[in-house]
Amino acid sequence: MASHIPRAFITDLIARTDIVEVIDNRVPLKKAGMNYSACCPFHNEKTPSFTVSPNKQFYHCFGCGANGNVISFLMEYDRLGFVEAVETLAAERGIPVPRSEAYQANAPVQQNLYDLVKQASDYYQQQLQGSAKARDYLNNRGLSADIIKEFAIGYAPDNWDNMQRCFEKPASEDLLKVGLLIKNDKNHCYDKFRDRVMFPIRDRRGRYVGFGGRVLGDGTPKYLNSPETPIFHKGSELYGLYEANQQRQHFSEMVIVEGYMDLLTLAQYGFRNVVATLGTSTTKQHLERLYRHVDRVVFCFDGDNAGRQAAWRALQVCLPLMQDGRQANFIFLPDGEDPDTLLRQQGADAFKTLVKQAEPLSSFFFRHLREDVDIESLDGKARLASLAKPLLSQMPEGAFKTMLYEELSKFTRLDSAKLQQFEIPRKASPSRPQRASHDQRRRKTNVRPTPMRVAIALLLQHPQLAEKTHNITKLAPLSLPGMDIFVELVDLAQTNPHLTTAALLEHWRDREHGDYLFKLAAWEHMLPDAGVEGEYLDTLKHLEKMGQHHEIERLLAKANEGSLGDSEKALLQSLISHTKEEG
Ligand SMILES: [Zn+2]
Repeated sequence: MASHIPRAFITDLIARTDIVEVIDNRVPLKKAGMNYSACCPFHNEKTPSFTVSPNKQFYHCFGCGANGNVISFLMEYDRLGFVEAVETLAAERGIPVPRSEAYQANAPVQQNLYDLVKQASDYYQQQLQGSAKARDYLNNRGLSADIIKEFAIGYAPDNWDNMQRCFEKPASEDLLKVGLLIKNDKNHCYDKFRDRVMFPIRDRRGRYVGFGGRVLGDGTPKYLNSPETPIFHKGSELYGLYEANQQRQHFSEMVIVEGYMDLLTLAQYGFRNVVATLGTSTTKQHLERLYRHVDRVVFCFDGDNAGRQAAWRALQVCLPLMQDGRQANFIFLPDGEDPDTLLRQQGADAFKTLVKQAEPLSSFFFRHLREDVDIESLDGKARLASLAKPLLSQMPEGAFKTMLYEELSKFTRLDSAKLQQFEIPRKASPSRPQRASHDQRRRKTNVRPTPMRVAIALLLQHPQLAEKTHNITKLAPLSLPGMDIFVELVDLAQTNPHLTTAALLEHWRDREHGDYLFKLAAWEHMLPDAGVEGEYLDTLKHLEKMGQHHEIERLLAKANEGSLGDSEKALLQSLISHTKEEG
């Protein structure tokens, strides 16, 4: 029974989940503007009309009207009941589902951690103004004020107690949790980052999750990163991805570099399709995230031995992801060069050429394997085959895989069909049958935009508007259809300022008007971002007037019957004079 799972847990679960990832694992998505799209899994179509909004955490199909949040999607797509969908989602995240109302919501705690990191970042940014040394460093690296501001670069002064200066009441436990403080064996807390240029790391939603810090002077280590924390996971975050996504520009490829400064220098030279790993090797999650945006990923490594080894590790992570249409390429910088020296000496065009001519995965694959093999000898050929096969067998079926096997057969003079024959069989994944579109799905989201609907829709789609709803006490008593829903929504969003559209909707699942709210959440209001707040406030004013007119009419009708009480007379008087004032 749904009632056995605490609502707070469900809200929490939705907050911790990214609908884009959940859907993408089942229906591969492509970036399209600020949203993601695919051919709809719920009806038959050739051109994509199914969109997923990372901001609203909500999906919607313009073709058949299917819409909902991540739980709705699992219920529809995996054909699950509500409880099963919640359990599936929780299991995928490795979170046990609590069965008692005693569950303590985790979301506010998490949010608090994000806020702490953001505040620390603001503090470091301020401190940068006061440090000539840090500003000189950034200037010498050629970074402009615009880039410094965009990436919110700051400076951690050479103190042991920056965090105490930054926070009025330093919440030591939480600062330890996000890795800004360290505790020594005498139980004394001190700052992790001292005398370092600070690069804040933002997650895909733009939340501040951690830092990279580069030492000024000769200290070690040269680069220091935030540790793994409840909100920062190096294996899935990429430095610069949020900033790249903010560029309203279509990229045909993404470039992965190894360091913060490499990325910033490239950004300074106009290369905005760049991300950096955070002191770790590239992971499967990193690549899955990038291939959601582009078909081509270009790795940029130093040309030295360490660089080549890192590149080989990256290639191996790529292989299982190399479905047809995806490309991976490798740049090896000349020994002793980094993007900074290269750009300064040879300019942006030189790097553009490197990206364009980067070595394809197939070429690097065989070049690397052949390094240790005498390809002329029979022995060497057999060895090449035995090295290559376990790697190739990890690739998804398709033309690209076949091509690599054919190449292997050329080198080894072994028959490619035979080479492939002895592959360890992969678990077959049956292709999912097209879902029948049933009638109830054939509801389009045609909404006649009455002021009440506009107010509810805008609030649902932009929950942060709740805090701008200053006239709620005037609105609440008005007897307008839908007002009770609106008031509940405002209340919910004001008490939980971090709820997304998806989380708000969850409160109406299986309730009266639930369907109606899902429809309003999917409604395309066509307003530019900058116009949303103004439209919302105008609509509220309009509603207030509408309500007053209703009230006047009701009271006048009552007056005609001669049954108007004294207080009602006074109310009528004030309402009429009020509307006259406003003309
Ligand atoms: Zn559809």
